[in-house]
Amino acid sequence: GDSTPKFKRVLLKISGEALMGDQAFGLHPPTVERIAKELKSVHDEGIELCVVIGGGNIFRGLSGSAQGMERTTADYMGMLATVMNALAMQGALEALGVHTRVISAIPMDQVCEPYIRRRAVRHLEKKRICIFAAGTGNPYFTTDTAATLRATEMSCEGIFKGTQVDGIYDKDPKTNPDAVRYDRVTYDEVLQKNLKVMDASAIALARDNNLPIVVFSLEQKGGMTGILRGEGTYTVVE
Ligand code: UDP
Repeated sequence: GDSTPKFKRVLLKISGEALMGDQAFGLHPPTVERIAKELKSVHDEGIELCVVIGGGNIFRGLSGSAQGMERTTADYMGMLATVMNALAMQGALEALGVHTRVISAIPMDQVCEPYIRRRAVRHLEKKRICIFAAGTGNPYFTTDTAATLRATEMSCEGIFKGTQVDGIYDKDPKTNPDAVRYDRVTYDEVLQKNLKVMDASAIALARDNNLPIVVFSLEQKGGMTGILRGEGTYTVVE
C-alpha cells in the first residue's frame, strides 16, 4: 500500500499517567524513553511534531482543591507538573539525537522558552519537536484544552491522543467485554453521549476549528507511525 504519511504537522497529546509505567506516581524513565522512541520514529518520517504532556502523574488541581487547597494555586501546581514531564521527555528525545524545544505558557527563562507563537512555528519548520508545557497558562483548564489550543495555533492537521485503549468505545472496554469501538464519531455525539475522550471545552474548541481528534493506543509498538499512515485501529472525532 501507500506508505507516505498522510500528515505534515500534527500534535500528540499524552496524559502524565502514560509516563508512570507500572508505578502509582511520577516518572518511570524507561517508559519515557519508550515513548520518546515512538516520537522519534514519527519525526523520522518528516512529520512536524508538537507534543503536549499532562501532569496527572505528579499533581492534579482538582485533587489538590479536594484536599482544601485553593483551586487556582492547585492548578498552578498542576501546570508546573507538566513542565517537569516536558523536561523529562526533552531529555529522552535529545538522548536519541532529536532536536527539541520545551515551550512554556508560563515564562521561566532559565528552564525553557516562553511561548511565542511565531517562534514556535519556526521551530517546527526547522524540524524541531516542540513540547508545549504549562498547559494554557490558566487555571480551570486542562492539558486537553491546551493541546487543542496549540494544535489550532500551529495549524496542525489533527490531534493524536494516545491512551491505554485503541479508540473510543460505547462503554468502558476494560469492564464491559461487549463494548463496541467507534471508527468515527462526531464532536456533538461525544458531547451528547458524554464519551470519555477529552473534556467538553477541548471538544468544543476542536469542533469550532474543524480539528480532527484521533484516539489511539500508546501500547502497540510503532503504533503512532502506523496510525499516521492510516493503519491499525483508532477512532476519529470529526
Ligand atoms: N492545568 C491548568 N491549566 C491548564 C492545563 C493544566 O490549570 O491549562 C492544571 C490542572 O490543575 C490539571 C493539571 O494542570 O489538573 C495537570 O493537567 P491534566 O490534568 O490535564 O493532566 P493529564 O490528566 O493529561 O495528565
